[in-house]
Amino acid sequence: MTATPSTESLVHDPNCIFCKIIAGKVPARVVYQDEEVFAFHDINPWAPVHFLLIPKRHIASMAHVGAEHAALLGRMLALVPQLALEQGCNPYPDGGYRLLCNTGREGGQEVQHLHFHVMGGPRPWARG
Ligand code: 5GP
Ligand code: ZN
Repeated sequence: MTATPSTESLVHDPNCIFCKIIAGKVPARVVYQDEEVFAFHDINPWAPVHFLLIPKRHIASMAHVGAEHAALLGRMLALVPQLALEQGCNPYPDGGYRLLCNTGREGGQEVQHLHFHVMGGPRPWARG
């Protein structure tokens, strides 16, 4: 069966800034990637460490997640502890990090490609 944009979510949305980053069409400082997952530094960091963890497949938001995405999201979340420490977050419990997923307009989501913010490092932070 052929997927069409009207019936299936696009694997890559050509108008999506994060899909362009994954494709290498927009530069970013890459933190990590594998077949399914991509991570890169936020262009406007709130904290000494601030990177975004995203699925390579275009999923518009957490509101679009269903049971079929459970394994992918589990893999993404399971990467956070290792990546956070590698990027300079201090160890728990005195260090740690904030894991944030803004969803929808009222949730403060600006980029419509599912992403987890990982923020950490010594305070004070610019925001948050
Ligand atoms: P949201 O408000 O959707 O949760 O967060 C989107 C985040 O993406 C913001 O923190 C913003 O700084 C970051 N961002 C937006 N455009 C770009 C970009 O082109 N490159 C990078 N590296 N980050 C971006
Ligand atoms: Zn996208």
